[in-house]
Amino acid sequence: MTEAICIDGSLGEGGGQIVRSSLTLSLVTGQPVVIENIRAGRAKPGLMRQHLTAVQAAARIGNAEVTGAEVRSRSIRFSPQRITPGNYHFSIGTAGSTTLVLQTILPALIIADGPSTVTLEGGTHNQWAPPFDFLQHAYLPLINRMGPRVSVELERYGFYPAGGGRLTVSIQPSGSLNGFDLMERGELKKRSAMGLVSNLPRHIAERETQTILKKMNWPADAAQVLEVTAHGPGNIVYTMLEYEQVTEVTTGFGRIGSSAENVASEVIRDTRNYLKNEAPVGEHLADQLLLPLAISAWQSGTHRRGGSFRTSPLTRHSTTHMEVIRRMMGIEIDVSRDERTQQTTVILRPKSSED
Ligand code: ATP
Repeated sequence: MTEAICIDGSLGEGGGQIVRSSLTLSLVTGQPVVIENIRAGRAKPGLMRQHLTAVQAAARIGNAEVTGAEVRSRSIRFSPQRITPGNYHFSIGTAGSTTLVLQTILPALIIADGPSTVTLEGGTHNQWAPPFDFLQHAYLPLINRMGPRVSVELERYGFYPAGGGRLTVSIQPSGSLNGFDLMERGELKKRSAMGLVSNLPRHIAERETQTILKKMNWPADAAQVLEVTAHGPGNIVYTMLEYEQVTEVTTGFGRIGSSAENVASEVIRDTRNYLKNEAPVGEHLADQLLLPLAISAWQSGTHRRGGSFRTSPLTRHSTTHMEVIRRMMGIEIDVSRDERTQQTTVILRPKSSED
């Protein structure tokens, strides 16, 4: 029996990503893993429902033997077997993020030996997680650039705290993942602002999008407002910048005690920061591209795979994530920062690569 790698969940920023990425990489490499001190950096440490669902989903897909899979658990052992593609349904049971659960299992299913369909229920537009629209417009096009065909459909919106959202993902795997270099944005093709409300007055989303248009000096037809159906109240507003090579989605989350104008100004600040830095990959996308590019680098035999991207200064979340990847896979991750442009170049490549 292969000895398990031990990952310390208190590493770096000590959050849920360490758990999810360790599971993903264990599935992909077949390497058993023990994760200790789970979410030690958080006020309520241990597995929350979202992380537990990620453990359970990874266990189903990898036919894994698991110990410690319960809410609040601070340590788990995960020993996967072969990845089994197929039709899956996972329900978080709270408003926990479906997109984070998906991002745990997707990297394994896109290199599986058959197609899969995955339905997930829970939150679809959560603060501190990729909203569905980010997944669809920013993340998945880059996954598809690596060879697989993944499409996603939002069947019901799910906001915190009511949850009840539902999305279905169709996955046509590609076996091995092509790498890519994402160093430039290319031409800007379209910019837009989208405001969404469920069970709340439409004027909230109208004020948010109008504030964005006015302050960004964008034309009137760049805004769209949607009243959507969900189990509870919810509001988000986002800007979408579509370039030839990449799309960035910057989201603000409506919440009690914060005006529509205030939520819009957070989105404006983050959108301006993205525009100013000029690197193609924003801070969230940087975090989420690490796993697929690492897998591409890990898979590479004689061909050069892996890849590179240019991003803004790395967050502690991303540097922690890189540490987990380095420990779980024998690949190289080079990071270089240009102080003048405030841009960071990240290169993921196989260890033996000579370039
Ligand atoms: P914890 O509860 O321990 O903080 P978590 O499991 O909820 O952890 P994090 O470890 O903080 O989650 O990871 C959140 C992930 O969601 C990161 O990959 C981050 O880039 C992504 N993310 C957060 N906010 C956004 C956003 N607005 N748009 C896109 N992605 C986002």
